[in-house]
Amino acid sequence: MNQSDDCLFCKIVRGEIPSTKVYEDDTTYAFRDIHPKARVHVLIVPRRHYANAAELASKDPQELAHIVQVAQHIADDAFHGSYRLIFNTGLDAGQSVFHVHAHVLTGETLDE
Ligand code: 5GP
Ligand code: ZN
Repeated sequence: MNQSDDCLFCKIVRGEIPSTKVYEDDTTYAFRDIHPKARVHVLIVPRRHYANAAELASKDPQELAHIVQVAQHIADDAFHGSYRLIFNTGLDAGQSVFHVHAHVLTGETLDE
């Protein structure tokens, strides 16, 4: 399944590290961020390991599109469809886990 033994989010996908599930299907897993920056802060990851959004876009664009749709679905449930979608990419942009993840911030009116 192209997963990395020492990757935190691969371990979460495999259930080796507990997480609070928000959504799952065959290709995708979504769970609550441990340090929420909004009332609802969810991380959406592909089950397969890709380092960042550009790698996902080139190797599995359908999954990238699916992640956007999952974000919409989460925000439809949590907050009438409004949300912020963030892919931190690279150390200097604040990426700390190198398994691509979309941050979904919603559940409240967000500052600009
Ligand atoms: P990044 O900084 O790479 O864009 O985002 C990584 C996110 O993962 C952070 O917002 C951080 O709070 C979250 N995080 C780190 N470790 C864990 C964990 O063990 N469980 C969960 N649910 N979130 C985590
Ligand atoms: Zn991984």
